[in-house]
Amino acid sequence: MKREHLIKPVLDRHYPTIEYGKGVFLYDDQGKAYLDASSGAVTAGIGHGVQEIVDAMLEQANKVSFVYRSQFTSEPAEKLAKKLSDSAPGGDYWAFFVNSGSEATETAMKIAIQHWQEKGRPGKNKVLSRRMSYHGITMGALSMSGHVLRRRRFIPLLEDLPVASPPYCYRCPLNKTYPDCRLACADDLETVVKRIGAEHIAAFIAEPIIGAAGGAVVPPEDYYKRIKEICDRHDILFIADEVMTGIARTGAMFGMEHFGVEPDLMALGKGMSAGYTPMAAALVKDHVMEPILNGSKSIMSGHTYSANPQSAAVSLAVLDYIDSHRLVESAKAKGSYLLNRMRRMAETIGIIGDVRGKGLLLAIELVSDRSSKLPFPPGLAVTSRIVDKAFDKGLLVYPAAGGVDGEGDAVIVAPPLTISEEEIDLLVRLLEETVREVMQEISGSDGG
Ligand code: PMP
Repeated sequence: MKREHLIKPVLDRHYPTIEYGKGVFLYDDQGKAYLDASSGAVTAGIGHGVQEIVDAMLEQANKVSFVYRSQFTSEPAEKLAKKLSDSAPGGDYWAFFVNSGSEATETAMKIAIQHWQEKGRPGKNKVLSRRMSYHGITMGALSMSGHVLRRRRFIPLLEDLPVASPPYCYRCPLNKTYPDCRLACADDLETVVKRIGAEHIAAFIAEPIIGAAGGAVVPPEDYYKRIKEICDRHDILFIADEVMTGIARTGAMFGMEHFGVEPDLMALGKGMSAGYTPMAAALVKDHVMEPILNGSKSIMSGHTYSANPQSAAVSLAVLDYIDSHRLVESAKAKGSYLLNRMRRMAETIGIIGDVRGKGLLLAIELVSDRSSKLPFPPGLAVTSRIVDKAFDKGLLVYPAAGGVDGEGDAVIVAPPLTISEEEIDLLVRLLEETVREVMQEISGSDGG
Protein backbone atom coordinates (compact mmCIF):
# COMPACT_ATOMS: atom_id res chain seq x y z
CA MET A 1 0.00 0.00 0.00
CA LYS A 2 1.17 3.50 -0.83
CA ARG A 3 2.41 5.40 2.23
CA GLU A 4 -0.04 8.15 3.24
CA HIS A 5 -0.56 10.22 6.38
CA LEU A 6 -4.29 10.73 6.76
CA ILE A 7 -6.12 7.84 8.40
CA LYS A 8 -9.29 7.32 6.39
CA PRO A 9 -12.14 4.94 7.23
CA VAL A 10 -10.91 2.19 4.88
CA LEU A 11 -7.17 2.45 4.44
CA ASP A 12 -6.78 0.81 1.04
CA ARG A 13 -9.69 2.62 -0.57
CA HIS A 14 -9.60 5.66 -2.81
CA TYR A 15 -11.59 8.64 -1.58
CA PRO A 16 -12.31 11.41 -4.11
CA THR A 17 -11.29 14.93 -3.09
CA ILE A 18 -14.21 17.33 -2.84
CA GLU A 19 -13.47 20.84 -4.07
CA TYR A 20 -16.70 22.58 -3.19
CA GLY A 21 -20.35 22.13 -2.36
CA LYS A 22 -23.44 24.08 -3.33
CA GLY A 23 -26.97 23.29 -2.23
CA VAL A 24 -27.59 19.54 -2.31
CA PHE A 25 -24.53 18.86 -4.51
CA LEU A 26 -20.85 18.21 -3.83
CA TYR A 27 -18.27 18.50 -6.63
CA ASP A 28 -14.95 16.66 -6.71
CA ASP A 29 -11.67 17.76 -8.28
CA GLN A 30 -12.46 15.69 -11.41
CA GLY A 31 -15.64 17.68 -11.94
CA LYS A 32 -17.94 14.86 -10.84
CA ALA A 33 -21.15 15.94 -9.07
CA TYR A 34 -22.66 14.02 -6.14
CA LEU A 35 -26.26 14.48 -5.06
CA ASP A 36 -25.89 14.49 -1.27
CA ALA A 37 -28.94 12.41 -0.40
CA SER A 38 -27.50 11.58 3.03
CA SER A 39 -26.48 15.12 4.06
CA GLY A 40 -23.10 13.48 4.76
CA ALA A 41 -23.88 11.62 7.97
CA VAL A 42 -27.39 13.15 8.21
CA THR A 43 -25.67 16.40 9.07
CA ALA A 44 -25.70 19.00 6.29
CA GLY A 45 -29.36 19.89 6.93
CA ILE A 46 -29.37 23.26 5.17
CA GLY A 47 -27.23 22.17 2.24
CA HIS A 48 -23.72 23.17 1.26
CA GLY A 49 -22.16 26.56 0.64
CA VAL A 50 -24.79 28.73 2.33
CA GLN A 51 -23.39 32.27 2.25
CA GLU A 52 -25.25 33.50 5.37
CA ILE A 53 -23.45 30.92 7.48
CA VAL A 54 -20.06 31.81 6.03
CA ASP A 55 -20.83 35.49 6.77
CA ALA A 56 -21.78 34.71 10.38
CA MET A 57 -18.60 32.67 10.75
CA LEU A 58 -16.46 35.54 9.48
CA GLU A 59 -18.25 38.13 11.57
CA GLN A 60 -17.59 36.14 14.76
CA ALA A 61 -14.02 35.34 13.74
CA ASN A 62 -13.40 39.05 13.35
CA LYS A 63 -14.44 39.53 17.00
CA VAL A 64 -13.08 36.46 18.80
CA SER A 65 -13.01 32.76 17.91
CA PHE A 66 -12.17 31.18 21.22
CA VAL A 67 -12.68 31.89 24.88
CA TYR A 68 -12.25 29.24 27.54
CA ARG A 69 -15.50 28.37 29.31
CA SER A 70 -13.81 28.24 32.74
CA GLN A 71 -12.90 31.91 32.29
CA PHE A 72 -15.55 33.59 30.12
CA THR A 73 -18.92 33.28 28.50
CA SER A 74 -19.91 34.75 25.13
CA GLU A 75 -22.95 36.30 23.57
CA PRO A 76 -23.40 33.61 20.85
CA ALA A 77 -23.23 30.78 23.42
CA GLU A 78 -25.76 32.50 25.72
CA LYS A 79 -28.12 33.24 22.82
CA LEU A 80 -27.84 29.75 21.41
CA ALA A 81 -28.67 28.14 24.76
CA LYS A 82 -31.75 30.36 25.08
CA LYS A 83 -32.87 29.71 21.48
CA LEU A 84 -32.59 25.95 21.89
CA SER A 85 -34.55 26.05 25.14
CA ASP A 86 -37.27 28.22 23.58
CA SER A 87 -37.72 25.80 20.68
CA ALA A 88 -37.52 22.55 22.70
CA PRO A 89 -40.63 20.63 23.87
CA GLY A 90 -42.05 22.46 26.89
CA GLY A 91 -39.04 24.83 27.06
CA ASP A 92 -37.08 25.20 30.33
CA TYR A 93 -33.87 23.50 29.23
CA TRP A 94 -30.28 24.37 30.07
CA ALA A 95 -27.61 23.66 27.44
CA PHE A 96 -24.18 22.12 27.92
CA PHE A 97 -22.23 22.56 24.68
CA VAL A 98 -19.82 19.92 23.37
CA ASN A 99 -18.35 19.05 19.98
CA SER A 100 -19.89 15.78 18.82
CA GLY A 101 -22.97 13.67 19.26
CA SER A 102 -20.99 11.10 21.24
CA GLU A 103 -19.90 13.77 23.72
CA ALA A 104 -23.50 14.98 23.91
CA THR A 105 -24.91 11.58 24.90
CA GLU A 106 -22.04 10.96 27.34
CA THR A 107 -22.56 14.36 28.91
CA ALA A 108 -26.27 13.65 29.27
CA MET A 109 -25.39 10.32 30.91
CA LYS A 110 -23.00 12.02 33.35
CA ILE A 111 -25.48 14.75 34.24
CA ALA A 112 -28.17 12.13 34.90
CA ILE A 113 -25.82 10.25 37.24
CA GLN A 114 -24.77 13.46 38.99
CA HIS A 115 -28.44 14.45 39.41
CA TRP A 116 -29.06 11.36 41.54
CA GLN A 117 -25.80 11.77 43.47
CA GLU A 118 -26.80 15.30 44.42
CA LYS A 119 -30.17 13.95 45.52
CA GLY A 120 -28.43 11.53 47.86
CA ARG A 121 -29.05 8.47 45.69
CA PRO A 122 -25.56 7.61 44.36
CA GLY A 123 -26.54 3.98 43.67
CA LYS A 124 -28.59 5.13 40.69
CA ASN A 125 -25.75 5.13 38.19
CA LYS A 126 -26.61 2.82 35.29
CA VAL A 127 -28.02 4.11 32.02
CA LEU A 128 -30.31 1.65 30.25
CA SER A 129 -30.84 1.59 26.53
CA ARG A 130 -32.22 -0.64 23.79
CA ARG A 131 -30.89 -3.22 21.44
CA MET A 132 -30.70 -1.74 17.95
CA SER A 133 -29.44 1.65 19.08
CA TYR A 134 -26.51 3.94 18.43
CA HIS A 135 -25.48 6.71 20.81
CA GLY A 136 -21.87 7.31 19.78
CA ILE A 137 -18.38 5.94 19.41
CA THR A 138 -16.59 7.07 22.61
CA MET A 139 -16.52 4.48 25.40
CA GLY A 140 -19.40 5.79 27.49
CA ALA A 141 -21.59 6.39 24.45
CA LEU A 142 -20.65 3.03 22.96
CA SER A 143 -21.49 1.34 26.26
CA MET A 144 -25.04 2.62 25.87
CA SER A 145 -25.21 1.55 22.22
CA GLY A 146 -26.67 -1.69 20.94
CA HIS A 147 -24.81 -1.44 17.63
CA VAL A 148 -23.24 -4.90 17.65
CA LEU A 149 -20.58 -4.31 14.99
CA ARG A 150 -19.28 -1.05 16.48
CA ARG A 151 -19.03 -2.57 19.98
CA ARG A 152 -17.36 -5.84 19.10
CA ARG A 153 -13.66 -4.91 19.44
CA PHE A 154 -14.13 -3.18 22.79
CA ILE A 155 -16.46 -5.57 24.62
CA PRO A 156 -14.24 -5.95 27.74
CA LEU A 157 -14.25 -2.18 28.26
CA LEU A 158 -18.00 -1.74 27.85
CA GLU A 159 -21.02 -2.15 30.05
CA ASP A 160 -23.23 -5.15 29.27
CA LEU A 161 -25.12 -5.09 26.00
CA PRO A 162 -28.19 -2.84 26.10
CA VAL A 163 -31.23 -4.99 26.69
CA ALA A 164 -34.61 -3.32 26.28
CA SER A 165 -36.52 -4.37 23.15
CA PRO A 166 -36.65 -1.84 20.31
CA PRO A 167 -40.00 -0.69 18.86
CA TYR A 168 -39.26 -2.30 15.50
CA CYS A 169 -42.68 -3.26 14.18
CA TYR A 170 -41.47 -4.44 10.75
CA ARG A 171 -39.55 -7.24 12.46
CA CYS A 172 -40.85 -7.29 16.02
CA PRO A 173 -38.24 -8.82 18.37
CA LEU A 174 -41.11 -10.10 20.52
CA ASN A 175 -42.90 -11.62 17.52
CA LYS A 176 -45.99 -9.52 18.05
CA THR A 177 -48.07 -7.22 15.87
CA TYR A 178 -49.14 -3.66 16.65
CA PRO A 179 -51.67 -2.74 18.05
CA ASP A 180 -52.56 -6.24 19.40
CA CYS A 181 -49.16 -6.26 21.12
CA ARG A 182 -50.34 -3.43 23.39
CA LEU A 183 -46.83 -1.99 23.25
CA ALA A 184 -45.16 -5.06 24.74
CA CYS A 185 -41.79 -3.62 23.68
CA ALA A 186 -42.32 -0.57 25.88
CA ASP A 187 -43.43 -2.77 28.78
CA ASP A 188 -40.25 -4.78 28.24
CA LEU A 189 -38.36 -1.77 29.65
CA GLU A 190 -40.26 -2.20 32.91
CA THR A 191 -39.35 -5.90 33.03
CA VAL A 192 -35.68 -4.95 32.61
CA VAL A 193 -35.97 -2.24 35.27
CA LYS A 194 -37.42 -4.73 37.72
CA ARG A 195 -34.72 -7.28 36.94
CA ILE A 196 -31.87 -4.81 37.50
CA GLY A 197 -33.56 -2.76 40.22
CA ALA A 198 -34.60 0.86 39.77
CA GLU A 199 -32.31 1.79 42.68
CA HIS A 200 -29.38 1.16 40.31
CA ILE A 201 -30.75 2.99 37.28
CA ALA A 202 -30.17 6.70 36.60
CA ALA A 203 -31.64 7.03 33.13
CA PHE A 204 -32.97 5.41 29.98
CA ILE A 205 -31.71 6.67 26.62
CA ALA A 206 -33.40 6.19 23.24
CA GLU A 207 -33.40 7.70 19.76
CA PRO A 208 -36.91 9.01 18.95
CA ILE A 209 -36.55 7.41 15.49
CA ILE A 210 -33.81 4.78 15.26
CA GLY A 211 -31.08 5.89 12.86
CA ALA A 212 -27.77 4.18 12.07
CA ALA A 213 -28.63 1.01 14.00
CA GLY A 214 -31.91 0.35 12.22
CA GLY A 215 -32.65 2.77 9.40
CA ALA A 216 -35.33 5.36 10.21
CA VAL A 217 -37.38 3.04 12.42
CA VAL A 218 -40.45 4.95 13.63
CA PRO A 219 -42.13 3.62 16.79
CA PRO A 220 -45.92 3.52 17.23
CA GLU A 221 -47.35 6.93 18.15
CA ASP A 222 -48.16 5.98 21.76
CA TYR A 223 -44.85 4.21 22.46
CA TYR A 224 -42.91 7.06 24.08
CA LYS A 225 -45.79 8.11 26.34
CA ARG A 226 -45.67 4.58 27.81
CA ILE A 227 -41.87 4.74 28.08
CA LYS A 228 -42.01 8.07 29.92
CA GLU A 229 -44.68 6.73 32.31
CA ILE A 230 -42.48 3.73 33.12
CA CYS A 231 -39.44 5.98 33.63
CA ASP A 232 -41.38 8.39 35.87
CA ARG A 233 -42.86 5.58 37.93
CA HIS A 234 -39.37 4.27 38.71
CA ASP A 235 -37.54 7.60 39.14
CA ILE A 236 -35.58 7.08 35.95
CA LEU A 237 -34.65 10.08 33.81
CA PHE A 238 -35.54 9.87 30.14
CA ILE A 239 -32.82 10.98 27.71
CA ALA A 240 -33.87 11.50 24.07
CA ASP A 241 -30.91 11.08 21.76
CA GLU A 242 -31.89 13.65 19.14
CA VAL A 243 -28.44 13.75 17.53
CA MET A 244 -29.88 12.52 14.23
CA THR A 245 -33.57 13.40 14.62
CA GLY A 246 -33.19 16.89 16.11
CA ILE A 247 -33.22 20.30 14.40
CA ALA A 248 -36.03 20.00 11.84
CA ARG A 249 -34.86 16.73 10.24
CA THR A 250 -38.10 14.80 10.82
CA GLY A 251 -40.51 17.62 10.04
CA ALA A 252 -40.55 18.85 13.64
CA MET A 253 -37.84 20.80 15.43
CA PHE A 254 -37.27 17.78 17.72
CA GLY A 255 -38.19 14.18 16.92
CA MET A 256 -39.87 13.73 20.29
CA GLU A 257 -42.53 16.30 19.34
CA HIS A 258 -44.17 13.60 17.16
CA PHE A 259 -44.79 11.59 20.31
CA GLY A 260 -45.92 14.38 22.66
CA VAL A 261 -43.25 13.71 25.28
CA GLU A 262 -40.93 16.17 27.02
CA PRO A 263 -37.64 14.39 27.70
CA ASP A 264 -35.73 15.13 30.91
CA LEU A 265 -32.54 15.43 28.89
CA MET A 266 -31.73 15.55 25.18
CA ALA A 267 -28.58 15.07 23.13
CA LEU A 268 -28.10 17.15 19.98
CA GLY A 269 -25.41 17.25 17.30
CA LYS A 270 -25.20 16.86 13.51
CA GLY A 271 -27.89 19.25 12.14
CA MET A 272 -27.33 21.71 14.97
CA SER A 273 -24.49 23.31 13.04
CA ALA A 274 -25.37 21.54 9.76
CA GLY A 275 -21.76 20.53 9.19
CA TYR A 276 -20.36 24.08 9.13
CA THR A 277 -18.43 23.50 12.37
CA PRO A 278 -18.32 20.84 15.09
CA MET A 279 -21.07 21.61 17.60
CA ALA A 280 -23.32 19.51 19.83
CA ALA A 281 -25.19 19.85 23.11
CA ALA A 282 -26.79 18.12 26.05
CA LEU A 283 -30.06 19.84 26.94
CA VAL A 284 -31.18 19.47 30.55
CA LYS A 285 -34.61 20.27 32.01
CA ASP A 286 -34.83 22.63 34.98
CA HIS A 287 -35.91 19.90 37.38
CA VAL A 288 -32.83 17.80 36.51
CA MET A 289 -30.55 20.80 37.09
CA GLU A 290 -32.21 21.77 40.36
CA PRO A 291 -30.37 19.45 42.79
CA ILE A 292 -27.09 20.39 41.08
CA LEU A 293 -27.86 24.11 41.40
CA ASN A 294 -28.70 23.55 45.06
CA GLY A 295 -25.74 21.22 45.56
CA SER A 296 -22.24 21.25 44.15
CA LYS A 297 -23.16 23.96 41.57
CA SER A 298 -20.88 22.50 38.93
CA ILE A 299 -21.20 19.71 36.40
CA MET A 300 -18.25 17.39 36.36
CA SER A 301 -17.65 17.36 32.62
CA GLY A 302 -16.50 19.64 29.82
CA HIS A 303 -14.16 19.96 26.89
CA THR A 304 -11.65 22.61 25.86
CA TYR A 305 -13.81 23.65 22.92
CA SER A 306 -17.12 23.50 24.81
CA ALA A 307 -19.30 26.57 24.15
CA ASN A 308 -16.67 28.26 21.98
CA PRO A 309 -18.11 31.43 20.44
CA GLN A 310 -17.13 30.52 16.88
CA SER A 311 -19.18 27.32 16.78
CA ALA A 312 -22.00 28.91 18.77
CA ALA A 313 -22.26 31.77 16.25
CA VAL A 314 -22.37 29.29 13.37
CA SER A 315 -25.02 27.19 15.06
CA LEU A 316 -27.12 30.29 15.82
CA ALA A 317 -26.92 31.29 12.16
CA VAL A 318 -28.00 27.77 11.14
CA LEU A 319 -31.02 27.90 13.47
CA ASP A 320 -31.94 31.35 12.13
CA TYR A 321 -31.67 30.03 8.58
CA ILE A 322 -33.96 27.11 9.47
CA ASP A 323 -36.53 29.58 10.87
CA SER A 324 -36.36 32.11 8.06
CA HIS A 325 -36.55 29.45 5.32
CA ARG A 326 -39.29 27.52 7.14
CA LEU A 327 -37.29 24.30 6.93
CA VAL A 328 -39.39 22.43 9.51
CA GLU A 329 -42.36 22.77 7.16
CA SER A 330 -40.14 22.00 4.19
CA ALA A 331 -38.87 18.76 5.79
CA LYS A 332 -42.46 17.71 6.34
CA ALA A 333 -43.70 18.53 2.84
CA LYS A 334 -40.62 17.34 0.94
CA GLY A 335 -40.45 14.32 3.21
CA SER A 336 -43.93 13.16 2.31
CA TYR A 337 -43.23 13.79 -1.39
CA LEU A 338 -40.02 11.73 -1.21
CA LEU A 339 -41.63 8.98 0.89
CA ASN A 340 -44.44 8.61 -1.66
CA ARG A 341 -41.97 8.49 -4.53
CA MET A 342 -39.89 5.86 -2.71
CA ARG A 343 -42.98 3.78 -1.90
CA ARG A 344 -44.04 3.85 -5.54
CA MET A 345 -40.53 2.89 -6.60
CA ALA A 346 -40.49 -0.02 -4.13
CA GLU A 347 -43.68 -1.58 -5.49
CA THR A 348 -41.82 -3.02 -8.43
CA ILE A 349 -38.52 -3.86 -6.72
CA GLY A 350 -38.80 -7.20 -4.96
CA ILE A 351 -35.83 -6.76 -2.61
CA ILE A 352 -37.23 -3.66 -0.90
CA GLY A 353 -39.08 -5.03 2.12
CA ASP A 354 -39.94 -1.76 3.83
CA VAL A 355 -39.93 1.97 3.11
CA ARG A 356 -40.22 4.10 6.24
CA GLY A 357 -39.29 7.18 8.20
CA LYS A 358 -40.53 10.66 9.01
CA GLY A 359 -39.86 14.01 7.41
CA LEU A 360 -36.57 13.79 5.58
CA LEU A 361 -35.21 10.91 7.65
CA LEU A 362 -36.23 7.98 5.46
CA ALA A 363 -34.92 4.50 4.72
CA ILE A 364 -35.43 1.33 2.76
CA GLU A 365 -34.86 -2.12 4.26
CA LEU A 366 -33.65 -4.81 1.87
CA VAL A 367 -34.81 -8.42 2.14
CA SER A 368 -34.24 -11.55 0.13
CA ASP A 369 -37.94 -12.43 0.34
CA ARG A 370 -40.62 -9.84 0.82
CA SER A 371 -43.32 -12.06 2.31
CA SER A 372 -41.11 -13.87 4.83
CA LYS A 373 -38.91 -10.74 5.35
CA LEU A 374 -35.89 -13.02 5.29
CA PRO A 375 -32.70 -10.91 5.41
CA PHE A 376 -29.89 -11.42 2.91
CA PRO A 377 -26.89 -13.47 4.03
CA PRO A 378 -24.30 -11.04 5.49
CA GLY A 379 -21.74 -12.29 2.95
CA LEU A 380 -23.67 -10.54 0.18
CA ALA A 381 -23.01 -7.16 1.81
CA VAL A 382 -26.14 -5.74 0.21
CA THR A 383 -26.02 -2.43 2.10
CA SER A 384 -22.42 -1.75 1.01
CA ARG A 385 -23.21 -2.73 -2.57
CA ILE A 386 -26.05 -0.21 -2.69
CA VAL A 387 -24.07 2.58 -1.02
CA ASP A 388 -21.05 1.98 -3.31
CA LYS A 389 -23.02 1.67 -6.52
CA ALA A 390 -25.01 4.79 -5.71
CA PHE A 391 -21.72 6.59 -5.03
CA ASP A 392 -20.43 5.60 -8.47
CA LYS A 393 -23.57 7.08 -9.98
CA GLY A 394 -23.08 10.31 -8.03
CA LEU A 395 -25.68 9.65 -5.33
CA LEU A 396 -24.78 9.66 -1.62
CA VAL A 397 -26.86 7.46 0.70
CA TYR A 398 -26.11 6.37 4.25
CA PRO A 399 -25.61 2.75 5.37
CA ALA A 400 -27.57 1.55 8.38
CA ALA A 401 -27.49 -1.77 10.19
CA GLY A 402 -30.87 -3.40 9.66
CA GLY A 403 -32.32 -6.09 11.92
CA VAL A 404 -32.47 -6.09 15.71
CA ASP A 405 -28.82 -7.06 16.17
CA GLY A 406 -27.44 -5.75 12.90
CA GLU A 407 -28.21 -8.86 10.86
CA GLY A 408 -30.13 -7.02 8.15
CA ASP A 409 -29.64 -4.40 5.45
CA ALA A 410 -30.99 -0.87 5.37
CA VAL A 411 -30.07 2.36 3.62
CA ILE A 412 -30.94 5.82 4.90
CA VAL A 413 -32.04 8.60 2.55
CA ALA A 414 -31.82 11.98 4.27
CA PRO A 415 -31.06 14.85 1.90
CA PRO A 416 -30.71 18.49 2.99
CA LEU A 417 -34.05 19.98 4.02
CA THR A 418 -33.64 22.54 1.24
CA ILE A 419 -33.93 19.93 -1.54
CA SER A 420 -36.33 20.78 -4.41
CA GLU A 421 -38.89 18.43 -5.96
CA GLU A 422 -36.84 18.24 -9.17
CA GLU A 423 -33.81 17.19 -7.14
CA ILE A 424 -35.94 14.60 -5.33
CA ASP A 425 -37.02 13.21 -8.71
CA LEU A 426 -33.37 12.86 -9.71
CA LEU A 427 -32.57 11.25 -6.35
CA VAL A 428 -35.31 8.65 -6.78
CA ARG A 429 -34.27 7.91 -10.36
CA LEU A 430 -30.65 7.27 -9.31
CA LEU A 431 -31.72 5.25 -6.28
CA GLU A 432 -34.05 3.10 -8.37
CA GLU A 433 -31.32 2.41 -10.94
CA THR A 434 -28.92 1.52 -8.12
CA VAL A 435 -31.22 -0.91 -6.32
CA ARG A 436 -32.29 -2.57 -9.56
CA GLU A 437 -28.69 -3.13 -10.62
CA VAL A 438 -27.76 -4.54 -7.20
CA MET A 439 -30.80 -6.82 -7.34
CA GLN A 440 -29.62 -8.09 -10.71
CA GLU A 441 -26.08 -8.57 -9.45
CA ILE A 442 -27.07 -10.69 -6.46
CA SER A 443 -29.76 -12.78 -8.08
CA GLY A 444 -28.11 -16.11 -8.56
CA SER A 445 -25.50 -15.40 -5.90
CA ASP A 446 -25.89 -17.22 -2.57
CA GLY A 447 -23.70 -14.81 -0.65
CA GLY A 448 -21.38 -17.55 0.52
N1 PMP B 1 -26.35 9.49 18.51
C1 PMP B 1 -26.96 9.25 17.32
C2 PMP B 1 -28.43 8.96 17.29
C3 PMP B 1 -26.22 9.28 16.14
O1 PMP B 1 -26.83 9.03 14.96
C4 PMP B 1 -24.84 9.58 16.20
C5 PMP B 1 -23.98 9.64 14.94
N2 PMP B 1 -24.34 8.81 13.91
C6 PMP B 1 -24.26 9.82 17.45
C7 PMP B 1 -25.05 9.77 18.59
C8 PMP B 1 -22.80 10.14 17.57
O2 PMP B 1 -22.52 11.40 17.04
P1 PMP B 1 -21.03 11.77 16.59
O3 PMP B 1 -20.69 10.90 15.43
O4 PMP B 1 -21.13 13.22 16.24
O5 PMP B 1 -20.14 11.53 17.75
